[in-house]
Amino acid sequence: MKNIRVSRILLAIALVSFLYPVSLEGEDDFAEERNFMVKNQIEARGIKDPRVLQAMKEVKRHLFVPKTLREWAYTDSPLPIGLKQTISQPFIVAYMSEAAHLKETDCVLEIGTGSGYQAAILARIADHVYTIEILKELADSASERLKKLGYDNVTVKCGDGYKGWPEHAPFDAIIVTAAPSKIPEELVKQLKVGGRMVVPIGSFYQELYLIEKTESGIRKTKLFPVRFVPMVHGLE
Ligand code: SAH
Repeated sequence: MKNIRVSRILLAIALVSFLYPVSLEGEDDFAEERNFMVKNQIEARGIKDPRVLQAMKEVKRHLFVPKTLREWAYTDSPLPIGLKQTISQPFIVAYMSEAAHLKETDCVLEIGTGSGYQAAILARIADHVYTIEILKELADSASERLKKLGYDNVTVKCGDGYKGWPEHAPFDAIIVTAAPSKIPEELVKQLKVGGRMVVPIGSFYQELYLIEKTESGIRKTKLFPVRFVPMVHGLE
């Protein structure tokens, strides 16, 4: 009798593990951390766009950082992703996404794919994201990661962001996540009239700018000081 009860319990455990393999593997252990992050780091600092907040709640940042750093994924800071590069602080990702005033029909260019995290956030807010990464190893791993996670409206290429992506221009918005020392002219050319570019400018001391392209030229708005890795020049 006792044996039958034990084997029933074991059978029930086996069934539950079969039906919920994902939660048992701890695939989404961080939903609570993510909500906490959005409330305390993002909303608390004034980000209001509901689509940006929703995207930040949904995209699993821990899947974009090295495995050993997963438990730090929802802290208020950038993290190393290898090759001396970093995934930006969550607040900066949210701020840049909001500053670009994205519509769901927008076609966006990102410079500096890195881990692919910012691209994933943008992909939930806009129609399509083209993203360029100069380091092949990062471009390949981000492309694979985004594909695996089902972001089929993101296209990654390895190349020099200073050249933009003329085949898909003009863009409604351009988000630059590495810092050039001055506004890259080619990128301004690839922006639609009415388009917005969010870009950190400077070398050691950097400021984030919103550049709006109008019929008569560009309008620059200085936002606040930031710290990004430099936007490097490709060979040639
Ligand atoms: N957006 C990324 C973080 C960017 S870190 C994320 O969400 O994870 C900046 C990235 O810009 C680095 O990966 C760096 O290799 C890349 N980068 C630097 N100069 C570049 C250039 N000229 N063109 C394209 N990518 C560049």
